[in-house]
Amino acid sequence: MAQAIEALKARAAEINHLRQAAAVLEWDMQCYMPPGAARARSEQMGTLAEIIHGMATGEELGRLISEAEAQLNGAAKDSDEARLVKNARRDYDDAVKIPADLAAEISRHGALAHNIWAKARAENDFPAFAPALEKTLELARRVAEHLGYESDPYDALLDIFEPGARAAQVETVFAELKPHLVDLTRRIVESPGYRQEPRLTGTFPSQVQDRVTQGLVAALGYDFAHGRQDKAAHPFCTSFSRDDVRITIRFDEKELDGALYGALHEAGHALYEQGIPADYDATPLGGASSLGVHESQSRMWENLVGRSRPFCEFALPKLQAAFPALQSVTAEELYRAVNRVEPSLIRVEADEVTYNLHVLLRFELEREMLSGRLKVADVPAAWNAKMQEYLGITPPNDALGVLQDVHWSGGMVGYFPTYTLGTLLSAQLWHTMKESLPDVDDQIRRGEFAPLLGWLRENVHRYGRKYEPDELVRLVTGEPLNARYYVDYLQAKYGELYELA
Ligand code: ZN
Repeated sequence: MAQAIEALKARAAEINHLRQAAAVLEWDMQCYMPPGAARARSEQMGTLAEIIHGMATGEELGRLISEAEAQLNGAAKDSDEARLVKNARRDYDDAVKIPADLAAEISRHGALAHNIWAKARAENDFPAFAPALEKTLELARRVAEHLGYESDPYDALLDIFEPGARAAQVETVFAELKPHLVDLTRRIVESPGYRQEPRLTGTFPSQVQDRVTQGLVAALGYDFAHGRQDKAAHPFCTSFSRDDVRITIRFDEKELDGALYGALHEAGHALYEQGIPADYDATPLGGASSLGVHESQSRMWENLVGRSRPFCEFALPKLQAAFPALQSVTAEELYRAVNRVEPSLIRVEADEVTYNLHVLLRFELEREMLSGRLKVADVPAAWNAKMQEYLGITPPNDALGVLQDVHWSGGMVGYFPTYTLGTLLSAQLWHTMKESLPDVDDQIRRGEFAPLLGWLRENVHRYGRKYEPDELVRLVTGEPLNARYYVDYLQAKYGELYELA
């Protein structure tokens, strides 16, 4: 293809290689770095971030993009070349819209607010965090003004994580979802089977959990020749290129669910990254369509696969061979134990039915905070009222309520809805996939995951970042994202589990 596009690709590759190198430093910091190295490491990462920012907003990149645009004439709108240049333009314009002093202020505030938040949470002291949250919102409003929007500043923030998404559309989809979740939760809590579910008790040595989860994610198709699994305080997946995609998990020797489903979740993210075409690597077409699409992959492997009856039947013999504590457990008991529903205070520990109510609550509150309709001082009361309304429980303190998540201290306003968008998409994709793979349940029961992974590779992974999420969803499923498939999935699964009428 045209020379200018090759020159643009070469420059983008330099910038992306630096980003990948920064990600290696970040991964090392989370997994292996000795505590005494924190200061030197933050200086290294700061210097790299400055260089990357300089290149990503530099005149040279701008010139290369303009030249590539000029050479595109004639290229089909949906060709890789046209999309590559379009993404480069979008990234560049967004990056240069944020003035350097604002970017620096955001980064300083992020580091500061994180420490204030951690202390406030430990001491259950929301008023100590309130000024930092106020500042986070002020910075978010300024970012929105610089990025630009039609009528709703939240759109500009949401667009950072979910390109093309609009708050009003998200609200419509969530409004369709919420009454079903509230109603299903209430009916489960009132059912005779509630709190009668089996539990997996015993001791589960970390080393054995590590070995077993590695075996399971390898069975799904996660490629250890191009990845590895390590221990970290907060599980995550990170990609240094499609040839090196790593996951981390954490272990609790008293229970198995956390590591098992954490590993399946992160492996779901990793399978996506490992499936992006090699020639997209380090170009503006590399990486995921959006955070929501990323989350659709992790939640599909964690929940639609991992918490299914067929998967429990497949995994049980492997778990029993490793853990004597599970000798007398049946596949049905395993299935019921890992699908126990209980309204709880902490989002990251929530089950499939209640999880998205935690997210909806946060989305609603940050919309109101950003617009100024809700004052920061009133956020804890608003949080607790919504917890009571949606889940029927009230946090006994703010540490277990409004202070639990890291996002608002790190300046991530507009991020939360992507969790639910991804969850909904996982079920919508599953519905479409079943038309091509009607025997997927039997395949999973036999440990044959290649057909499912192949379908995802063909229909989602191979597009990388070529399409925006809305385009991708329509392309693959033939309709826009909606809540129907997820509601159907939950009602069928939990209606049967809890014998609801
Ligand atoms: Zn995730």
